[in-house]
Amino acid sequence: MNQPLRLHSERKCPACDRDCVIVQSRAGGLVTRNCVAGHQAQPVRLSDLPLLRCAVCKVDMITDTVDKNYVYKCPSCGRTATVHSLVPPWQESFDFQGFGGPDFEMH
Ligand SMILES: [Zn+2]
Ligand SMILES: [Zn+2]
Repeated sequence: MNQPLRLHSERKCPACDRDCVIVQSRAGGLVTRNCVAGHQAQPVRLSDLPLLRCAVCKVDMITDTVDKNYVYKCPSCGRTATVHSLVPPWQESFDFQGFGGPDFEMH
């Protein structure tokens, strides 16, 4: 299994204008974008997904909706991955970013 990807949403947090990271939502199956400063999670639109490249073909992947899940698909080799399968669960993403985001510092 690959490491989860840290995908930044194209849109910023509406509350503080900081980056949002796309994560698996608590409910499972869905993805949300969570502000790095911990504001309320926001729904993800297809247009929020950052561009990814197929590691094999080196071409940009297209984004699409399949069975209500967002997917990345390589137009060359046809490899498909749901966004949900690529990103970390929301709680882990906040662990591995060193905690709390730019509003908080650790001593
Ligand atoms: Zn925020
Ligand atoms: Zn490919």
